[in-house]
Amino acid sequence: MEIPEGARTIIDVLARRGKEAYLVGGCVRDALLGRRPSDYDIATSATPQEVLSCFPRTIATGLKHGTVTVLMGKESYEVTTFRIDGEYADNRHPLSVTFTPSLAEDLRRRDFTINAMAYSPKEGLVDLFGGRQDLKGREIRAVGLARQRFQEDALRILRAIRFSAQLGFELEGKTEEACALEAFRLENVSSERIRDELMKILLSDHPEKLEEAYRLGLTRYFLPEFDSMMATTQETPYHRLDVGHHTLEAIGHAPKDKIIRLTMLFHDAGKPSTKTFDEKGIAHFYGHAFESAKIAGKALRRLKFPNAVVQEVFFLVLHHGDVVVPTEKAVRRAIAKIGKERFPAFLTIQEADILSQSDMARVDHLARLSAVEKLWEAEKDKAECFGLKDLAVDGNDLIACGVEKGPEIGKILNNMLKYVIDNPDKNKKGYLLNHLSSFSR
Ligand code: ATP
Ligand code: MG
Repeated sequence: MEIPEGARTIIDVLARRGKEAYLVGGCVRDALLGRRPSDYDIATSATPQEVLSCFPRTIATGLKHGTVTVLMGKESYEVTTFRIDGEYADNRHPLSVTFTPSLAEDLRRRDFTINAMAYSPKEGLVDLFGGRQDLKGREIRAVGLARQRFQEDALRILRAIRFSAQLGFELEGKTEEACALEAFRLENVSSERIRDELMKILLSDHPEKLEEAYRLGLTRYFLPEFDSMMATTQETPYHRLDVGHHTLEAIGHAPKDKIIRLTMLFHDAGKPSTKTFDEKGIAHFYGHAFESAKIAGKALRRLKFPNAVVQEVFFLVLHHGDVVVPTEKAVRRAIAKIGKERFPAFLTIQEADILSQSDMARVDHLARLSAVEKLWEAEKDKAECFGLKDLAVDGNDLIACGVEKGPEIGKILNNMLKYVIDNPDKNKKGYLLNHLSSFSR
């Protein structure tokens, strides 16, 4: 296994003091898979105090849990004392942790076999639970008795799905069964922890594993909106899938961006409650975009997403289906409405949506969308006016021309803006003020 210089130094320094030290967890798993580890965690028999005293640059990150961050050059490493987790009071945090001199004890408390391996240059791989075998078999298997492990910390249920989504692995039979049986405990897991795992699922190579979470009865405890989507069929020539499967495909067709994938997750969440049939038996979902946006806002707030994320996703969901006809004027109006900064995301969302509809819809809409995209490319670099801040005239100019302070000013400015969006070459102070009277109607 290739080890960064800093990690090797830490292990060597601790070894010279007679302490055991190993790389553990995610980095060992990723290295065996030939993936680049995101960080390198070290576990040691040394106590936190001993670790602090061994290295000149340290941060006492989580002494209670045994974690010290050691800085080496530009890198930092979390060095955690071997520990046994005490009893879990609330499916969340161990009430206490006990330090132990035993690596085996430390590995036993870890969630899955593929996450419970250790490595040191001197001893090589330490694999007590068959992690390597499970990497080969591409399986997520709990360490020990799955049900008991999920009873200790129910977040592990969602972590199982998360690792299966990131790695493209299947859940081992007993582990899968335990996920379903203990799912109800997710109710007691904090929204923040659920949010972080959900986001990792959505941003993974296999976001469609969310269906697994649904099938095992997990989503009903943290994302019941998705259960409704899975239960809503679409009897329309524009779709070939139910709302849930269409949504999963659309997430997969979207780039790995937080805002965009969240937008895809919720873009049709309003369909279950807006579904109607016409006399021919065709399903319609009138006004679903607004319903979807409201549902997205509520769900994201419940999951403790930051306000900025909630607002951005709300806006994009609300406008996800806005049809822009491919003419210069319509595209300029759309840019003004959606906003220049957001416009690329808007196009991306429409594309992911269309790619997940029926063949008929794809042919109709993709041609339109690519024409709109071309027009956008032509527009975007022009220094044109798409908002009041770009208008050549402001409130003070109007006051100077004798317009009275008050609502009249806003009305005139907005009329001017509308005109200028359609006639960009007229965004000139002289022209606009000369035609003032025509904008005050
Ligand atoms: P990532 O690449 O996402 O960081 P990771 O495997 O490092 O993946 P972390 O959440 O950073 O995952 O956790 C580090 C290690 O700590 C895991 O590999 C696992 O051994 C252990 N671990 C983390 N959370 C839990 C938990 N809730 N229960 C048991 N062990 C856990
Ligand atoms: Mg990690």
